[in-house]
Amino acid sequence: MVEKLYHFIGGARVEGKSGRFAPIFTPMTGEISAEVPLASTVELAEAVANAKAAQPAWAATNPQKRARVLMKFLELLARDFEKIALKLALEHGKTLPDARGDIQRGLEVVEFAIGIPHLLKGEYTEGAGPGIDMYSMRQPLGVVAGITPFNFPAMIPMWKFAPAIACGNAFILKPSERDPSVPLMLAELMYEAGLPKGILNVVNGDKEVVDAILDHPDIKAIGFVGSTPIGEYIFTRGTANGKRVQAFGGAKNHALIMPDADLDMVADALIGAGYGSAGERCMAISVAVPVGEKTADALVERLAPRVRTLRVGPSTDEKADFGPVITRQHMEKVKSYVDIGVQEGAELVVDGRDVNLQGYEGGYYVGGVLFDRVTTNMRIYKEEIFGPVLSVVRAPDYETALSLPSDHEYGNGVAIFTRDGDTARDFAARVDVGMVGINVPIPVPLAYYTFGGWKRSGFGDLNQHGPDSIRFYTKTKTVTSRWPSGIRSGASFVIPTMG
Ligand code: NAD
Repeated sequence: MVEKLYHFIGGARVEGKSGRFAPIFTPMTGEISAEVPLASTVELAEAVANAKAAQPAWAATNPQKRARVLMKFLELLARDFEKIALKLALEHGKTLPDARGDIQRGLEVVEFAIGIPHLLKGEYTEGAGPGIDMYSMRQPLGVVAGITPFNFPAMIPMWKFAPAIACGNAFILKPSERDPSVPLMLAELMYEAGLPKGILNVVNGDKEVVDAILDHPDIKAIGFVGSTPIGEYIFTRGTANGKRVQAFGGAKNHALIMPDADLDMVADALIGAGYGSAGERCMAISVAVPVGEKTADALVERLAPRVRTLRVGPSTDEKADFGPVITRQHMEKVKSYVDIGVQEGAELVVDGRDVNLQGYEGGYYVGGVLFDRVTTNMRIYKEEIFGPVLSVVRAPDYETALSLPSDHEYGNGVAIFTRDGDTARDFAARVDVGMVGINVPIPVPLAYYTFGGWKRSGFGDLNQHGPDSIRFYTKTKTVTSRWPSGIRSGASFVIPTMG
């Protein structure tokens, strides 16, 4: 049966009014499981009005009480964990264990946001002048919005709404229209946890509602995660409208493999980071850069049999290494990149284009693909494929290898594998990329650090989660006060100084 989804506005489920809907597919079978309403400016205006009306009282609620709603939310999330993980796996396509990880990495940011009474503390200077004290405070922005991608439908919405709401804002979430069920489930749990009506709204839709968010004068900040062209558009239009915007985009994450690295460990790391979640992670490794021909030969020799025997399967198969990709179009796109790589002259070591799973013929499967002798002028090197495709680019020496991720237009994540501390330290200091792993293939910082890529992987100044999220979702007010108020120094026409 095709389920009818809804928006979540003012603490209640609301039917779509625009008359436009999009089908939701189950990637492992290709069947339609639900349809999602695509909002217009009307639903968005309704959500913003609800948010705006509710926000002042929420901002005035003491931070510990706000944190308690998030604590209760965590309890409810633990209660419904398996139900949500299964829905996530079915709608996104990732395997059930990986779906659990998606929820887990999101709830860790909720745990961080529970520290909000501490995180919001300002500064104080007693006696900054005669009878003068000075202090700063962090105040919420008001109504803020998050626009999120399909690939982490639990984690990224929580990265956005938990710190924003903890800081006293009201939040409008526009999740991906390809897998919106989990974000809706999360919103429902937030209300069951005691969130006042209107503080978290989920408005489903596509470009039409995104544009309405970008133009709405009452939305003060937008956090976006998705592809680079859309991220750049969101940043440009949102900031032109006077909003604070952070927009995180695509990636091409390199792993450098030095001749002294433990190649068995490297092979394990590359198999997991290259093919986990069918490569649909912004921190997936898609380029391996072995240094020296000997290292390259030994690495490819280790990788090839393992890629050949990767098990792609339905999301519900607990033994599958990874599941289908998100849509039929995306499956075709990934396969077309394999065609392009062959035409460009890369060596196709393992071809994953022909996968047929009995009983799942309608699903969107691509098997593991391994290319060797990829060069920097090839499209398969330059562009984000977002599929289970790993390219080996052979580098003659460390300096050449270091220049590859540094010169690439994307700068999300990067890793180096070596036993040499000097090289690792030099690499971490010099590489022009935002998140670095040393013998760690997917260096996603923990909740209390910040997450964000450089160059065309991130637009805006402040990162996601960690201390930057508090800065992003608040504005600083600085107060200069004089007590006792009666000290008189006469009228002065000169700027006050401490001279
Ligand atoms: P996407 O850019 O297609 O969609 C992201 C969001 O933008 C969705 O909510 C979508 O509805 C909206 N959108 C799509 N087209 C739009 C348009 N023309 N105008 C306005 N809004 C539009 O991205 P996706 O396919 O959902 O996600 C995959 C991408 O996200 C990859 O590029 C991946 O690298 C990136 N990603 C980046 C990070 C990061 O932190 N840097 C994390 C996860 C995913």
